[in-house]
Amino acid sequence: MFETLSDRLTAVFQRIGNKGRLTEQDVDEAMREVRRALLEADVNYKVVRDFVSAVRERAVGEEVLKALTPAQQVISIVRDELIKILGEERVPLQLAQVPPTIVMVVGLQGSGKTTHVAKIANLLKKEGRRPLMVAADVYRPAAIDQLQTLGGQIDVPVYSEGTKANPVDIAKNAVKLARDRGYTVVLIDTAGRLQIDEPMMQEVERIAEAVKPHEILLVADAMTGQEAVNVAQEFHRRLALTGLVLTKMDGDARGGAALSIRSVVGVPIKYIGTGERIDAVEPFYPDRLASRILG
Ligand code: GDP
Repeated sequence: MFETLSDRLTAVFQRIGNKGRLTEQDVDEAMREVRRALLEADVNYKVVRDFVSAVRERAVGEEVLKALTPAQQVISIVRDELIKILGEERVPLQLAQVPPTIVMVVGLQGSGKTTHVAKIANLLKKEGRRPLMVAADVYRPAAIDQLQTLGGQIDVPVYSEGTKANPVDIAKNAVKLARDRGYTVVLIDTAGRLQIDEPMMQEVERIAEAVKPHEILLVADAMTGQEAVNVAQEFHRRLALTGLVLTKMDGDARGGAALSIRSVVGVPIKYIGTGERIDAVEPFYPDRLASRILG
């Protein structure tokens, strides 16, 4: 992801870098190319528009154009503004003052939801916490098996009541068990569908109402581009998401979802998934991603 965008931006900066002094027209021309590169990377057009106008406004300032290395300054402004659209600061998982912290994980089927419940549980375990994973997707028996297999790999217990129980009861019972047994983080894997539908939304709303999670994380597949952004917006309307997990960042999508989702949805990206392995997950740092894009 981002290779094409990175190459395009590098080319633009090289061109202005070779010029020495810059005029307003040079900046405008460079920004037109940046704009085109971002749109071709499938970044949301409003995000692109605001980004380009913010960069331009700062870059045509007297100080920048009169500076000895104006191109360097333009690059540094682009970097700043890129970090801004990615959310500025890292926002970590909010842990409850009094454990257990309840984390509900939602998302469409195939987005990487179950895998990421386990990946995050594994990270938390490595930080010395005591996670409990909860199989609240009762519609796909394979989802429960998958969570149990992952639990075995990372040595984190899974709470399940099979496929006959009600997901709201499963979630409530799991939280009670966590309190009784001293688990400090409860990660609830909820049901995913191929598309957003009303029963799915109502179910996750009911679970949220019943267990009052500290975090509601949406897992979204970065490979699906702007569709991931739309899905996140729709979930956020219904559930008040507290964080996003953007998966499959190792794929060859053009990167538009990653660059748009934070600004469009208004919810921080907390983790990114970078592969199929259980350790292929990273806490999300806006400045690191900006550096990756700018090379
Ligand atoms: P769920 O239906 O949303 O629970 O999705 P799963 O967790 O079962 O994941 C669906 C598929 O995506 C599986 O084959 C995962 O191995 C794969 N997957 C999940 N996260 C990533 C990721 O970050 N990168 C890659 N390449 N594959 C992933």
